[in-house]
Amino acid sequence: MSQTTLHTGILAHLRSDPFTRDDALEIIPEGALAVDSAGRIAAAGERSALSALFPGAAVIDHDRDWLIPGLIDAHLHFPQFYATAAFGGELLDWLEQSILPAEAAYADEAFAAEAAERFVARLLSSGTTTAVVFGSEFYPATESLFRAAKAAGLRLIAGITLMDQHAPENLLQTVDEAVDGMRRLIALCAAEPFLHYAITPRYALSCSPALMEACADLLRAHPECYLQTHINENRAEIETIRAAFPNDRHYLDAYDRYGLIGPRTILAHSIHSTDAELSRMAEAHCAVCHCPTSNLFLGSGLFPLRRHLEHGIPVAVGTDIGAGTQFSVWRELAEMYKVQRVQGFGLNAAQLLYPATLGGAKALGLDRETGNFEPGKSADFFVLGYEDNAYLTARLARCASAEEQLFCLLHLAGEREVKTTYAAGGPALRTVQPSACHDFVT
Ligand SMILES: [Zn+2]
Repeated sequence: MSQTTLHTGILAHLRSDPFTRDDALEIIPEGALAVDSAGRIAAAGERSALSALFPGAAVIDHDRDWLIPGLIDAHLHFPQFYATAAFGGELLDWLEQSILPAEAAYADEAFAAEAAERFVARLLSSGTTTAVVFGSEFYPATESLFRAAKAAGLRLIAGITLMDQHAPENLLQTVDEAVDGMRRLIALCAAEPFLHYAITPRYALSCSPALMEACADLLRAHPECYLQTHINENRAEIETIRAAFPNDRHYLDAYDRYGLIGPRTILAHSIHSTDAELSRMAEAHCAVCHCPTSNLFLGSGLFPLRRHLEHGIPVAVGTDIGAGTQFSVWRELAEMYKVQRVQGFGLNAAQLLYPATLGGAKALGLDRETGNFEPGKSADFFVLGYEDNAYLTARLARCASAEEQLFCLLHLAGEREVKTTYAAGGPALRTVQPSACHDFVT
C-alpha cells in the first residue's frame, strides 16, 4: 500500500506571477502538504481538510515552522566554491588574479570529488533544491558534480565550463576534448531525470569560432540541453567584446550568430543590455539570471529588473558563487530588494519570492516539475524555523499579517533558520539536515 506523508506547518508559495496578479501569493497558516511515496505532491491546503482526505497518512508536524518551495539558484560556479570573497578589482582583474588560479585546482580529481560533495551539501542546506551550475573545465571534476547531485537529490543543470582561448594554458581544452566530454555527460544526463546538461561557453571571448560552432552542433543534436553563458556584466568586459567583434550590433550577437540564443538559454547578469538586446532575448524566449550580491561585490552595476519584465523576459535569481558572497538564495532575495529599491522599484514579499521559486522554474522550463506546491510536482521544499532566534521571534510577533511576516523573514532569516530541506530529486524522498551540513562544510 502506498504511504502518504502529511507535512504540517505554515505553507507559503506562489500560485501565479505576482508581477501581473495581486492574488498570486498563498499563505496557509494551519497548512499541510501531502507527499506520496514517490516524492510527489498529492495535495496542499488546510491541515484539517488534508487530515480528513488522507486519514492513514504519516504526519510530520513542523509546528509553527514555514514550508517554502525549494529554492532555485540559477547561476553559480562549482570551481569557485573555495574562492568567495576574493579581494581584488572588477570582473576581468578578479578573474585573472583570483578565480582562474582557483579553478585550476580542480584538475586534481580527488580534491574535486570531495569539493563536489561539500558544494552540493552546502546548497541543499541553504534550501536550494535546483541549481544551474558552471562546472569545472576538467571533465572528471564536472562528472563528480553530477554524481554528487544525484546522490544527494539535488536537481542539477550543469556543464563543463568551456575555454579554448584567452585563458591560462592549464585551463584550456581543445575542441575535440570539449566535445568528447560534453557528449559523455549528455549521455549520463539522458538516463537521469533530475540531471540536465547545459552547454557552457564561459563567455564570448573564451571560445574560438570552432568551439562555438561545436556548441551549436551539439545543441541542435540535443535539443533537451540547456545553453548557459554570461552577458553584459561589466563595462570593461563589454568594451573588450566590442573591440573583438567590431561588426556586431551588440554583445548578444556574439552568441546569436551561432544559434545559441533560444528558449533553453540562460544568460547570467544582463546588467547593461540594450533595448535591442532585450527585444531579441524576448523574441527568442531565453531567460536571464540576476545575481545581486555578485553585482554589488564586483561593482558591476544595478540589474534593471523592470526593463526585463517590460520586455517579457523570464528572470531567475542566482548566488553566482564565487563573485556572490553567500550560498543562500533566500539571502540573495533581500539583496535583490535593495538593488531594485535604489532604482525606485519596490518589491513586495510575493515579488521577492517569485524568481527563486515559481518564476525561476518557469524561466528554466521546469515549472511542471517544481517551483510551488501544485499537486503532481516534485516535493521540493524546505522548512524555515526561527524559534531559536529570539529577535526574529519578537519581530514576527509584531507583524500584522502573515504576508508581513514573510517579508520580514525574507530580510532577516538565513541559512541558520533552514531546519530541513526535502528534495524529491531521486527515487525516494531524501532529507538533508542542515546542522550536519554546516558542520561538514565549515
Ligand atoms: Zn558567473
